Amino acid sequence: MISGPAGVGKGTLVSRVHTAHPEVYVSVSVTTRFPRPGEVDGTHYHFVSDVHFDELIASDGLLEWAEVHGAARYGTPRGPVCAALDAGRPVILEIDVQGAMQVRQVMPTAVLVFIAPPTWDTLVNRLRGRGAETEEQIARRLVTARHELTLEDEFDKVIVNDELDTAVTELVEFIGL
Ligand code: 5GP
Repeated sequence: MISGPAGVGKGTLVSRVHTAHPEVYVSVSVTTRFPRPGEVDGTHYHFVSDVHFDELIASDGLLEWAEVHGAARYGTPRGPVCAALDAGRPVILEIDVQGAMQVRQVMPTAVLVFIAPPTWDTLVNRLRGRGAETEEQIARRLVTARHELTLEDEFDKVIVNDELDTAVTELVEFIGL
């Protein structure tokens, strides 16, 4: 499982690993947040209503879920992840720290990797540079990020995403692909 604060570059890292190792199944989460420009339903996320999300929880369709940034709910669909694991494929979940802790409870052998920014300022600049959120949304993400950074020690490995290629290599080596 890959976690770390918003803007740290988790998505880019995971997509680089996936391109190099297509055998890996990268879970597509469900979320109640609205798509950002350029995001494709079913590729980046399954964008669902609150009612649909409630139904997924009620039918035990999610491996884990959490409310992130106090703004929206995100969850991992159970079926596709279990099917990939049954088929012997490595699985990557890119989820927040609350979700990572839940998965650790139900899958104790899962490996938890925390992606950290080189510095706090880098994170702030990357988040602003995305240009995708309002100042209020950015501020909320930074509050979550401060908290998430205090939880680094709960993880099996911390990778600092300073130079992308180096971080990709470290991640691939650590998860044994
Ligand atoms: P964003 O809105 O920027 O795409 O994602 C916000 C946060 O939600 C990120 O920290 C991301 O890791 C987390 N997230 C994405 N999908 C899931 C999921 O399925 N479960 C949990 N718990 N967190 C998720």
